[in-house]
Amino acid sequence: MNSIKKKIKINGRDIEYVFKRTKISRSVRLAIYPDGHFVVTAPKWYPVYAINKFIEEKAQWIFEKVKDVDFDLLDRKKETENAEYKKTVKLARVIINNRLEFFNCHYNFSYNRVAIKNQKTCWGSCSQNANLNFNYKIINLPEEMRDYVIVHELCHLQELNHSKKFWNLVAETVPNYRTLRRKLKEIK
Ligand SMILES: [Zn+2]
Repeated sequence: MNSIKKKIKINGRDIEYVFKRTKISRSVRLAIYPDGHFVVTAPKWYPVYAINKFIEEKAQWIFEKVKDVDFDLLDRKKETENAEYKKTVKLARVIINNRLEFFNCHYNFSYNRVAIKNQKTCWGSCSQNANLNFNYKIINLPEEMRDYVIVHELCHLQELNHSKKFWNLVAETVPNYRTLRRKLKEIK
């Protein structure tokens, strides 16, 4: 699926929209979201003139929908959210690095890069190249659970599996790892 940004003038106002062509859709569709951005989806084979005609027919309706949207305000809101997010990630990096160093005083493993990510599905991971990845959201977990995630990934540097040996390593600094692991699963 490819999507491009386009613009139309309705009642003297430039209105931006996203145009997409998809394999699955059978007709031209138009959607307007609460933030005022609108999307036109068309089948791959649909001729451009027919799409434009369709949009023209809907022009007045589109205009009515977006005329009260304060796009500047929305942009500012997005900027604030972005700045907020960057600050949180920065804080997460400091906390995670501190806790890594703390636990690594015990293990003394070596690792390369520590990446702080915005992952949906996992709290952390460890790669074969000894890179550690953490979801920035772990700083919102209770401290002992956050530490468990950090120790878990740290121990994968030695044992890249979930063997008995691996769990014994974890237990050296997090003896109640079973409980914490279960609690963590309940959150997801
Ligand atoms: Zn694991």
